[in-house]
Amino acid sequence: MKNDCIFCAIAEGEIPSFKVYEDDEVLAYLDINPFTKGHTLVIPKQHRTGLLDAEDSLLASVLPKVKKVAAHLKSALPCDGFNILQNNGEAAGQTVRHIHFHIIPRYAGEPLVFESHKGDMDELKALSERVRMA
Ligand code: AMP
Ligand code: ZN
Repeated sequence: MKNDCIFCAIAEGEIPSFKVYEDDEVLAYLDINPFTKGHTLVIPKQHRTGLLDAEDSLLASVLPKVKKVAAHLKSALPCDGFNILQNNGEAAGQTVRHIHFHIIPRYAGEPLVFESHKGDMDELKALSERVRMA
């Protein structure tokens, strides 16, 4: 398998996938362990690990395709909304080291739990001073 990368193997057609969309640059296919019905992954065919090693030009060509596939899913499924998720690094839950955008269809009345907590204003202020970009 090229690069030992399962998503490269899918892009090359060496491993089968439940294809949703394909063109010269990207491939979209159903996630085999879906969060919700229609959970789809969009990948560039070129191997990049994640957001930080993907060139701006590559990202600029992929995001409109994510939009195109999401719009299609919204009417074809249909679903009521969707989340876009893109994990970078093991700590963020990335299990496949080939950049991919999750399109997670959402259905009214079917919650998916992303847990948050009430922010501490002093901590937020100090943090913003530390990370604010010039
Ligand atoms: P992440 O956790 O962001 O790296 O997401 C990787 C995703 O790829 C997971 O949601 C897996 O269920 C999915 N996945 C892994 N192998 C395959 C495969 N052969 N076909 C489709 N989806 C896959
Ligand atoms: Zn790859």
